[in-house]
Amino acid sequence: MNKEIATPQRTKAVLEKYGFSFKKSLGQNFLIDSNIIRNIVASAGLTGNSGAIEIGPGIGSLTEQLAKTAEKVVAFEIDDRLLPILEDTLSPYQNVNIIHSDVLKADVKAVIKDNFPNGQDIMVVANLPYYVTTPILMKLIEEKLPIRGIVCMIQKEVADRIAASPSTKEYGSLSIATQYYAKAETVFIVPSTVFVPKPNVDSAVLRLTMREKPLVDVIDEEFFFTVVRASFAQRRKTLLNNLTHNLFSKNQKPLVEEALASAEIDPKRRGESLSIEEFARMSDALYKRLK
Ligand code: SAM
Repeated sequence: MNKEIATPQRTKAVLEKYGFSFKKSLGQNFLIDSNIIRNIVASAGLTGNSGAIEIGPGIGSLTEQLAKTAEKVVAFEIDDRLLPILEDTLSPYQNVNIIHSDVLKADVKAVIKDNFPNGQDIMVVANLPYYVTTPILMKLIEEKLPIRGIVCMIQKEVADRIAASPSTKEYGSLSIATQYYAKAETVFIVPSTVFVPKPNVDSAVLRLTMREKPLVDVIDEEFFFTVVRASFAQRRKTLLNNLTHNLFSKNQKPLVEEALASAEIDPKRRGESLSIEEFARMSDALYKRLK
């Protein structure tokens, strides 16, 4: 039996055999540490009946451990040069389906329906390409897919922003957009030495557990997120200033003040101090007066 793919020796041999050169533009930093991979897979809580969806299998190092743990793995890979390599490295595993596609353009819901028709437990598990981390995560969570959650390696700085609490410098519209749909936690930090090539940023494994329903009830979801983004537009400005400069006009100021008063939110506060519940209250009060 061959060594696991995620060892420096095996990875080097595979890359040499195929003359593979990394494309920085595709965020290709491959994992070469089996312990880290086992910890990522363990964080997903998969069973032998689970389905796993991977984004960017690379040469198959994480895919291999997923195939050993879950019932079936479906992996989206954009780089056609990796397809023959994956066919080779993953040939011992019959439960892997590689889809050659940009995950941002893929109909993930349809892929789930085709591959996991029995409504089984499904987790997304990935070492994400860092240049598109946020668009991929937002797509997966906003499409309301039938998944239990997502365990992914991303830049530590982005993981910190996603899992941030109010009144911290990391807290912002990304924390709220994610935590609205999912419980977010950083599971562990990963040194750059476990990748080839080494990325220039620190990495972390983030776990998102999808909520059955959003954290807060709001009258209009789109308006809620617009209010959140406007409130953080200039972090040093007060809520009132941000809202009247970025979302409403100056002559609507009295109505904005009235809405904030009715939601019991001090207009001098900054967006970063509001909990998601307070944002919901404020957005509904603004909606009732100004929409
Ligand atoms: N899973 C492998 C590992 O851990 O060693 C590779 C991870 S590497 C950080 C990211 C992978 O995502 C690469 O294989 C890259 O080609 C692929 N990728 C980049 N953009 C993608 C996209 N939009 N859709 C699907 N795969 C993508």
